[in-house]
Amino acid sequence: MLITKTDYLEYTFCKKNLWLRKHKPELFEGMEFSDFEKKIIEDGNLAEAACRLLYPEGVLIESHHGQAIIDTKEVMADRQTVFQATFQNDVFYLRADILKCVGPVVDDGIVTSGLGGWELFEVKATNEVKRRAPHHHVNDLAFQKIVIEACGVKIVKAGVIHLNREYRKNGEVNNHALFMEEDLTAEVMAAEEQVRGEMEQMKECLEQPEQAGCACLYEGRSNHCSTFAYSNPEVPAYSVHNFNRIGMSKKKLEDWVDRGELALTEIHNPEDLNKAQKLQYTACLLDKAIIDYAAVRKALDGLVFPLQFFDYEGYGSAIPMFDGFGAYEQVPFQYSLHIMQAGGEIEHREFIITEPTGDLTLPLIERMKVDIDPAGTVISWYSSYEKQRNDKLAELHPEYASFLKEINDKMFDLMTIFSDGHYVDPAFKGSASIKKVLPVLVPALNYSVMNISKGDQASERWEKLISAKTSATEKEKIARDLLDYCALDTWAMVEIYRVLRSL
Ligand code: SF4
Repeated sequence: MLITKTDYLEYTFCKKNLWLRKHKPELFEGMEFSDFEKKIIEDGNLAEAACRLLYPEGVLIESHHGQAIIDTKEVMADRQTVFQATFQNDVFYLRADILKCVGPVVDDGIVTSGLGGWELFEVKATNEVKRRAPHHHVNDLAFQKIVIEACGVKIVKAGVIHLNREYRKNGEVNNHALFMEEDLTAEVMAAEEQVRGEMEQMKECLEQPEQAGCACLYEGRSNHCSTFAYSNPEVPAYSVHNFNRIGMSKKKLEDWVDRGELALTEIHNPEDLNKAQKLQYTACLLDKAIIDYAAVRKALDGLVFPLQFFDYEGYGSAIPMFDGFGAYEQVPFQYSLHIMQAGGEIEHREFIITEPTGDLTLPLIERMKVDIDPAGTVISWYSSYEKQRNDKLAELHPEYASFLKEINDKMFDLMTIFSDGHYVDPAFKGSASIKKVLPVLVPALNYSVMNISKGDQASERWEKLISAKTSATEKEKIARDLLDYCALDTWAMVEIYRVLRSL
């Protein structure tokens, strides 16, 4: 069994999950990457390809496994820069992003320092060096240095090349400005002993029989991976792990688990719960919603007509595609707006960028200026997303800054009715996401029948929509699907608002 660099990083994050991947791959069969995960992989590949352009002399090893090791040796014999240099020592196998040959420093024919060797760079499609599992860049490099040096290659420098968060595209992407190099040699050398120890422990761990349970028994639900139920069959689907923000009160969780109090309603000390958790517990115990009618009414009475239910969809990428935007900065590419007058009449407005030419977001903001009345309240769900997009638009178009600021200042986040505990239903399972709230309050409305049903899917579809390779017919269909999806987001808010009003 070969152990790759990815395996090592996974081991440092979760031993059990790596063991299951290696010994019980059937547990992961049929499990597809989400659109979000696919995008992360694609962004990583694009960033690596763009970074290689900074080393025009580099040679890419395109072969695999044993052949890649032979090809790597050949290229390195010519002291050329290598991309995807491949090494194996014992069971440890890796492909290094960039390996660059450096000679000793020679001054006037005299070697003044160093014996020369190789510089190792890892390309990361992130805005910074990460130092926490499972993306610990220093340990990642230390693993590589250990394996490469065991193969007889001296590493004299180790670093990460990552995206520069300050960079903003202006014309052609400038790869020299987009990427920045951080020398981590000292940190990598300091981490080597620990990483070497972990590599040996990992070998032993993978040779052991399966251990029962897993460490997430003591972690909140958001930490659990897809195999949690397999490793912990005794834990019910709605358990103490679902308590609101229980990850912040690990002691309580540990206590319940050690006492065998796994179901949410089985705990011996409900009096120790915080306000949100207590509401969640009581709703579950009574098996009915708990509603603070006065608080809901007070929140809704503060809204000013026309009520404008508003939602953006956004797109971000590692290599910025549009002028004025940096790596991963979200480009608002469409919006939906349902306008409700005091008498209850509803009107719908929407906009989508289909041809991203010139000043990309100017047509969008011009239409917003026509569609939105800042005197009324703009209502969104998880409003920090919409507010941040408005701040970015204001930065790009200062002439609209006061209009956007006025919207932001008065924006009401409908989600707060649920996240602040004014309305708690056992079926929300401690979440205030619209995907959990909508089916309970408005069962007739359903995302699952839509061609697009999630934000990351919308982002991927828009990328397809603006691609020159997409036919006009397909573009039209994608645009319709995107408009329908975004419209459902704002219509869902209208319906939720009506239900809340009817209380
Ligand atoms: S649920 Fe947590 S501890 Fe268990 S295998 Fe998954 S990540 Fe590891």
